[in-house]
Amino acid sequence: MTTTAETLPMLLEEIEVVAVERLSPSFVRVVFGSPALADLGVDGPLYDQRIKLIFPNAAGRLPSMEEADESWFATWLDIPEQERGAIRTYTVRALRGTGVDTRLVVDFVLHGEGGGSGPGGDWAAHAEVGQRLITLAPRRGVPFGGIEFAPGTAKRMLLVGDETAVPAVAAILECLPPSARGATFLEVPVAGDVLPLDCPSGVEVHWLPRDGASRGVAIHAAVLAHLGEEPAAPVVDEIDPELWETPTYSSSGEDVDVAVRAVGHDFDDLYAWIAGESSMVTGLRRAMVKDLGIDRHQVAFMGYWRRGVAMRS
Ligand SMILES: Cc1cc2nc3c(=O)[nH]c(=O)nc-3n(C[C@H](O)[C@H](O)[C@H](O)COP(=O)(O)OP(=O)(O)OC[C@H]3O[C@@H](n4cnc5c(N)ncnc54)[C@H](O)[C@@H]3O)c2cc1C
Repeated sequence: MTTTAETLPMLLEEIEVVAVERLSPSFVRVVFGSPALADLGVDGPLYDQRIKLIFPNAAGRLPSMEEADESWFATWLDIPEQERGAIRTYTVRALRGTGVDTRLVVDFVLHGEGGGSGPGGDWAAHAEVGQRLITLAPRRGVPFGGIEFAPGTAKRMLLVGDETAVPAVAAILECLPPSARGATFLEVPVAGDVLPLDCPSGVEVHWLPRDGASRGVAIHAAVLAHLGEEPAAPVVDEIDPELWETPTYSSSGEDVDVAVRAVGHDFDDLYAWIAGESSMVTGLRRAMVKDLGIDRHQVAFMGYWRRGVAMRS
């Protein structure tokens, strides 16, 4: 077993599958354990805390992280591609237990028909107790980043996601106070993927199974209707595969301090968090920021994956 140098500010550790549960046609829950997870955690709510997972190479081997230091990523990239395995981003769906019995829960989406094949989805489809991955995750007490949900003083939440964002939305909802108000729109592959959510009573939940219909269309119309607009088809001029725009960061390099005020609408009390396939997110970004004029400081738009494109990290 590899161990992270204890001096690293984050965990970079081998973890072992201790349970696998098929939640629905498209979701597999994998529970990981390791004594090293005793140090996993954040000082505050987990919300949409992201982590990295390194999957084994084709021969089933993981790279050694024994000598890992702050330059571990560059060192890992120097390993020939077919040997180093693949790194992908996932969400901490939940943490259970304490100390060396801490368990990390990750809900994986199976790509399904029409989805490409990738190391993350493929691994999850065949996950078994005893298999190992490496995780890069927050060490309790040390700033790590990776939480984007930041509603500030907003009184109304709007949470929008496709299946890859369901784990994050479910975790965020569990962290909200009982007084929270708002709405959640979740697009999933099929009706059987509607999962139980622990949600404040003032937050409406709308599940939108595609059941064979095109990705991103129904959710776009539903969100616009919720905002008081005529349901319309998404307009996507150019898709930014790296799309990541939060109130404090823009992947396009746009000035995040340029405030645009909505005309004829009252969105002042709104905070919107939107994540999923990049064209869905891009279409909603255009509708909400360009067309409706919602202030970018009130919205986080995150491309979690891009159709036809393998993620590099
Ligand atoms: C912050 C963040 C949090 C995330 N949390 C989760 C999470 O908790 N659970 C989760 O399952 N995913 C999550 N994702 C999305 C996940 O990282 C991507 O789906 C990633 O592409 C999966 O890697 P892969 O190796 O399976 O496919 P890749 O090698 O990246 O891609 C290979 C092919 O598969 C396609 N593909 C990728 N994902 C899907 C999909 N979901 N459905 C259909 N086709 C797909 C690609 O378009 C490409 O054609 C998250 C992403 C981010 C950025």
